[in-house]
Amino acid sequence: MALRKTQAVVIGRMALGESDRLVTFYTREFGKVRGVAKAARRQRSRFGSALELFTQGQLLFFETERSDLAKVDAFDIIHPFQAVGEDLERLTLGSWVVECLGRLSADRDPSPTLYGLLLRTLKAFEGSGRPARTAFCFAIRAVDLLGHRLRLDRCLECGKPSPFPRGAARLDFTAGGVVCEPCAPYGSDGVDLSGAAVAALRRLRTLSWDEALRAALPPPLEAEMAGALEEQMTRLIGQVPRSARFRAQIRAPIGALR
Ligand SMILES: [Zn+2]
Repeated sequence: MALRKTQAVVIGRMALGESDRLVTFYTREFGKVRGVAKAARRQRSRFGSALELFTQGQLLFFETERSDLAKVDAFDIIHPFQAVGEDLERLTLGSWVVECLGRLSADRDPSPTLYGLLLRTLKAFEGSGRPARTAFCFAIRAVDLLGHRLRLDRCLECGKPSPFPRGAARLDFTAGGVVCEPCAPYGSDGVDLSGAAVAALRRLRTLSWDEALRAALPPPLEAEMAGALEEQMTRLIGQVPRSARFRAQIRAPIGALR
């Protein structure tokens, strides 16, 4: 059994057996790693409260030859990101972020850039900015980094440059980008997107992380773009994320993210 050491964030957890915990980490060096933390649910567990959702820590784990599940040896807290779990809006949006990351990334597919994006997102959730904008900025960058960048500069059917003269476009998720209105009936399923939303999405991609968090956007435009990105995430995952269902149930004041 090889011992590995890496920085990691807890992005998922569930009970396993009588006292163990199955923990999903997003690690800097190895990408997504799922591991078993033995006796983690016992009262005097050596892991203490370290395995809470969103916690960043130094992970020590053993690779096991017989299973794709690692054996968690130690997880020492670097930063708990406690504030993300203490507020309902941050908790629901933060849960959506880590669920999307967990379900769209493969085991042991390293991406230090995605790890960096996750940390920047959690830091922004802790700050004073609007959580809905933070989740939205995460989604814009995550779909690109996960290899699902939408083509927004021209119609995928006829090649006409966007924004289109008649304004509205259809975002065709199967084709992977926008289709102009005259071509739309021939395209497959997707969502309608105004010319202003297409232009704003393109602009947001070119901004730095901090600029994107602060960029002035009319709320209806932001809601339109956030809705489209949320729909794209749902389709990529293949079903509505559990965290989104939870969010719909509690009807929290989510603002721009519907
Ligand atoms: Zn067209």
